[in-house]
Amino acid sequence: MEPLPALFAQRMRDLLGHEAEELLAALDSPRGPAVRLSPLRGAVAGLASRLPWPTAPVPWCPSGRLVEAASSEVASHPFNDAGVYYQQDPAAMAVAEALAPQPGELVVDLAAAPGGKATHLAALARDGALVVANDVDERRARSLLGNVERLGVTAAVVTSARPERLGGALLGACDAVLLDAPCSGEGMFRRSDEARRAWSEAGVGRHAELQRRLIATAADLVRPGGRLVYSTCTFDPREDEEVVLWLLGRRPDFRVEPLDLPGAADAS
Ligand code: SAM
Repeated sequence: MEPLPALFAQRMRDLLGHEAEELLAALDSPRGPAVRLSPLRGAVAGLASRLPWPTAPVPWCPSGRLVEAASSEVASHPFNDAGVYYQQDPAAMAVAEALAPQPGELVVDLAAAPGGKATHLAALARDGALVVANDVDERRARSLLGNVERLGVTAAVVTSARPERLGGALLGACDAVLLDAPCSGEGMFRRSDEARRAWSEAGVGRHAELQRRLIATAADLVRPGGRLVYSTCTFDPREDEEVVLWLLGRRPDFRVEPLDLPGAADAS
């Protein structure tokens, strides 16, 4: 693989001290795939027992399984086409679990394509919440729609609009909103040379600015007492903690909740 960007490695050393070497080594070591089984296609335990590969549980996601197989084999298996599972990184499975959507709720996923988290949200609510899954990119919204259908979700609306344009009837009306924001993609370094090449210090700053705009829009959709989950697949605090702190400064009616997921450390 391409070497990790030197400035990124330095930033992680500044941020994490002696723990940085563990992170950097992990990003340079390959890891097998994981799948999230769709309870809309059958009971999870039954589906898991029919997977043709050895598997191990994902502590924070009861429908997630680490799989001992090549990623291409998992992607080309008929179970994938049938929507029995969605191939997804284990860390990404924590996001919808944190939002914990309930049947009867109105849930919005503002940056939803290709649908890993939107389909997970729908599954957690047993397809009984109304999930509005939006992505600004029309081509990506089409693949989102395909995945929503493949995974057996029926109570979803797929839209392709700039987040600020969603407003309208959704303003202050949503029980739960997810912003899985576009980011500098440092979490992709483990499996993507392209992510390593595309990273730049300026990109982190640009993304942080966009993320502040998007999180303000996301917060406007949440009803009083509702929930907002903000996630990225990047480590830089300027795109993570600092975006959340910026929102808290602007919206004192929001507060940070502890994350209580099995196997996940609380860093609040
Ligand atoms: N939540 C998705 C999932 O789990 O499959 C992944 C979302 S990805 C991290 C971020 C998404 O943000 C992309 O699909 C991209 O099209 C969208 N996006 C990019 N620029 C945007 C912008 N300016 N406003 C809103 N969304 C944007």
